[in-house]
Amino acid sequence: MGGHQEGAVSFQVGGAFFRPQGRLVRDLGVVAAALHRQQWGSLRVLEGMAGCGVRSLRYALESGANFVWCNEGNPDLAPVIGENLRPVTQYRISHEPARRLLARCVAEQDYYDFVDLDAFGDPLGELPYALGAMQLGGWLYLTSTDGRSLTGHLPPEQLNPFGGIARVHPAGHEQGLRILLGALQRQAASLGHGIRPGFAYFTGETYRILVQLTQRRQFNPKTYGWLGYCHHCGDYAVIPWRRLGRCPCPHDGKPLTLTGPMWLGNLHDPLWVEQMGALATAWQWRDVVQLLAGFAAEATLPPYFYTLRAIAQGIKGDLPRRSHLIAQLQAAGYAATATHINPEAIKTTASLRVCRALLSNLPNAQNPHF
Ligand SMILES: [Zn+2]
Repeated sequence: MGGHQEGAVSFQVGGAFFRPQGRLVRDLGVVAAALHRQQWGSLRVLEGMAGCGVRSLRYALESGANFVWCNEGNPDLAPVIGENLRPVTQYRISHEPARRLLARCVAEQDYYDFVDLDAFGDPLGELPYALGAMQLGGWLYLTSTDGRSLTGHLPPEQLNPFGGIARVHPAGHEQGLRILLGALQRQAASLGHGIRPGFAYFTGETYRILVQLTQRRQFNPKTYGWLGYCHHCGDYAVIPWRRLGRCPCPHDGKPLTLTGPMWLGNLHDPLWVEQMGALATAWQWRDVVQLLAGFAAEATLPPYFYTLRAIAQGIKGDLPRRSHLIAQLQAAGYAATATHINPEAIKTTASLRVCRALLSNLPNAQNPHF
């Protein structure tokens, strides 16, 4: 059994499921938890689906957690977790379904600052208990691997379990993050609270969301609604609930395909990802810094993106260079940036038509009303 090294810790994997390429996702969690510790002065962590316990170990040693509860449903992993957590002073290990453990925390009013649920499949069954076991101001870091539901690829006779209708369109993975955030928002609202997205990260395979439990609901028509996609021209429109039923494509009047309801607010909290970036910079975690800078740039842009392929449709020649197109859009007065979700796509406040016009160097592309 070979030893592994990640961040500042060494550990064994034993028979646990462990993906070395998930390091960036674990790094993000460690930075976020450490930042919470800095800002609030204490950090109690509960990890519901721990595997070999590497994340609990890292929260303790690198984020400075005062206490970690490391739960893993599979009791066969007890020896390896016990061995891995030896350098930790304040911890507890258990082996039961995460849902049951969280429900007991709720009943005993045992609240946590940071709850990590690295679920396989979707985390919906755990959500009400996880939110209930959180301290106000605390963070929930969760995974969904259910891409088929979240991108609208279920068979037509099946509805996804997230309480939002997903459809297939080029920005499908951002839709996935936002439907998850919408489900969290509804769940928090049912407890009388709200959530603030810290960041929402599509890794290329899984959806990772970090949200903070807030005192007040954030559930309102500005942050929660529908997205329309036009299969005719390829553009999007945000549809508030009052406009449901009369929402033609604003560009050509064709009917829109609606998807949602979903979270329409910021995909990441600009201040939070900036603060995380400062901490990661101090630690010299370069790829984390770079990822967080990307999050900061895209945080407040519209809830969809355009692929370069969609922009270049009908235009002769090679696909445009992403950086070049972004610079052109910014020079024309629009906000524009890369999206972390797709290396061949951009987020911008310009319409698809304006992007196309810029690409073909049409003179009236400089006119924002074009
Ligand atoms: Zn259209």
